[in-house]
Amino acid sequence: MIALYFKKMVIQQKLLIMQLLLVSSAMLFVFVLTVVYQYISYKQELMDSLNSQISVVEGNIGSAIAFDDKATATEILATLSLNPSIDQAYVELQNGVKFSSYQSRNTHIVASSSEKHYVNQAGIEMIKPIMDNGRKLGVLHVDANFLAVNQRIKVFVLALLGAVALAMLLARTIAAKLNHVITEPIIYLEQLVTNITKKHNYTQRSTINSTDEIGALSLGINNMLDNIKSRDDKLVEELKQRVVIEKRLDQLAYYDSVTDLPNRHAFTKNINQLLGFNQQDQSHFYLLMLDLDFFKAVNDTHGHEVGDELLKQCGLRLRRMLSEEDAVFRIGGDEFAIILKAVKTTRDVEKICQRIISVVSQKFVIKLHEILIGTSIGVAQYLPGGCSESGLIKNADMAMYWAKSAGKNTYKFYSEEIEEVNFYRQKLAMDLQNALINNELVLHYQPIVEVTTENIIGFEALLRWAHSTEGYISPNVFIPIAEQSGLIVQMGDWVIESALKQLKSWQNAHEPALFVNINMSAKQFYDKRIVDSIKKAIQKNRVDPSTVNFELTESIMMEDVDKAIAIMQLLKQMGTGIAVDDFGTGHSSMRYLKQFPIDTIKIDKCFVNGLPADNVDTAIVEAIFALAESLKFDVVAEGVETLQQFEFLKNKPCAKVQGYYFSKPLPVGLIEKLLNQNKVLQ
Ligand code: C2E
Ligand code: CA
Ligand code: CA
Repeated sequence: MIALYFKKMVIQQKLLIMQLLLVSSAMLFVFVLTVVYQYISYKQELMDSLNSQISVVEGNIGSAIAFDDKATATEILATLSLNPSIDQAYVELQNGVKFSSYQSRNTHIVASSSEKHYVNQAGIEMIKPIMDNGRKLGVLHVDANFLAVNQRIKVFVLALLGAVALAMLLARTIAAKLNHVITEPIIYLEQLVTNITKKHNYTQRSTINSTDEIGALSLGINNMLDNIKSRDDKLVEELKQRVVIEKRLDQLAYYDSVTDLPNRHAFTKNINQLLGFNQQDQSHFYLLMLDLDFFKAVNDTHGHEVGDELLKQCGLRLRRMLSEEDAVFRIGGDEFAIILKAVKTTRDVEKICQRIISVVSQKFVIKLHEILIGTSIGVAQYLPGGCSESGLIKNADMAMYWAKSAGKNTYKFYSEEIEEVNFYRQKLAMDLQNALINNELVLHYQPIVEVTTENIIGFEALLRWAHSTEGYISPNVFIPIAEQSGLIVQMGDWVIESALKQLKSWQNAHEPALFVNINMSAKQFYDKRIVDSIKKAIQKNRVDPSTVNFELTESIMMEDVDKAIAIMQLLKQMGTGIAVDDFGTGHSSMRYLKQFPIDTIKIDKCFVNGLPADNVDTAIVEAIFALAESLKFDVVAEGVETLQQFEFLKNKPCAKVQGYYFSKPLPVGLIEKLLNQNKVLQ
């Protein structure tokens, strides 16, 4: 209990108690020792004085006894009164008779001579034989008390107690001083350390600078604090650097370096978070997938630096027009994704899509180049409990492809219908694999007529798919599917081979100058085997290459300008002709038009439609003819359906026409009939 209490005490109290205990036990020891020693000395002093007095008395009293002079003897004994400690004395002769005695006035002897009891204190009896010339005359008895000794020892004890008390007081004062010197700095250091530990403020320092052990302890603590401080500073610096590095890594991992927008990684993370969040939240959001139209052409035409800057500015325009709550990501080359969280209705999303299209379609000026692009947007809505992240992205993507194929620079919402059509397209994609093997593909030919003579001078080979259950399927439907699956290359080879074979047979039977135009798709054109397969087909069928033309759309040519020029030049070297299909609808630049080795441009049906009534169409067609004339191109007007259209085109130089007005695309048998009649069907 006491030990526990002691343990709980502060060091100052502990030290004081220890010091006082130490001092008091030492004092007690010294006190007892001194008192005992003093008592013994007093007694010894008394004994010495008694002895000397007794010797004096014994030396003088012998003659008094010898002369039986009692009065002298009594007088001699009375000299003992000088010593107040002597109570009584008497001389006993040899025969036992008391010769003389002395009695102190202070004595209170109550007992007989044989048995003495002192009222106050114990005493001592001293016996000394009285000799005279070697003869024993009697014995001198002296009884003394210790009253004086006791009295003196009492005074001594009192004085000593006073001294002890003073010493204790002094010890207490010194201890307090000592405590002040030792414990206060210790307490100060303890408080300093506690304070530092609590507040983690390692800038504080001990101000003790004594040269003793406490000074050394203070110095040690300060050194330790210096070390901690420098380590702390280092740690803070390291942490700062780590934050910077983490930020940088985060930037690299989650942000696109070109546009500074969050990247695909951030996009999937964000979508997943939203899906997880929305399971509880029961709210919905919209996902917009954007694909820039004609971006590739810009990249090819103006270079990657301009392309990157275009993406950057495009990202900036998107970011600026959206609210803070909505998120924009760059998820691929020219693909952006937008998550609309704040929008509530489909009507609002439509408005945003229209604004996006308008914002992206506005002219960009980059390094003095004026650039016009567009964007196709696919929209998918997420409803609580709806599809997964990949499902949502797939839906928006699907809608985006629809928007693209619906003529670009437009938006489409994902719908059941899209899903169904997509499903249908997937089915067709599988069926298409067998179409070639099962001879379900067939070529129809549409005559191309010379306006001046109205004679058939050539044909455009147009592919048909006679599906076993679906009937005839339009090339507009299955060509993009074949493009996507890659089957177009094989299919294209078949078209080239079949068309050349057919051409050779017609050239043999009718007119050797008859030519054939073969359509080519992007994947097929850019396939590394294309030039070889054409060469082989020409050689195999022994056709004059100058009677074979390949139709390429502007967008195919602009996809990879340099590569396109290289392939076209190889085809030209072979002797074949090249026609630009659907001219005016694509995104070609006049600058490049001159560089491409083109022979013919085919004016798209959409411009021919309005002839001759529509002023704009008329102006465009006139302009195309003027351009063709200056660049020495032949011109084929497509989709001529009426006499009026034909009449308009009749007067144009180098003009050829193609359209329902003369003939629809026809199977081989019907074309042969036409050739036999050497006139077109009306
Ligand atoms: P295209 O190359 O522009 O072919 C012309 C399209 O216009 C043909 O449609 C043709 O039937 C149609 N057409 C021609 N004259 C008229 C007219 O007076 N009025 C109307 N309304 N239409 C007319 P078709 O045969 O359905 O072909 C569609 C597209 O499929 C072609 O457009 C071409 O891009 C592609 N295609 C056809 N055959 C092939 C092929 O063998 N290979 C490749 N890669 N694409 C092909
Ligand atoms: Ca064509
Ligand atoms: Ca065309």
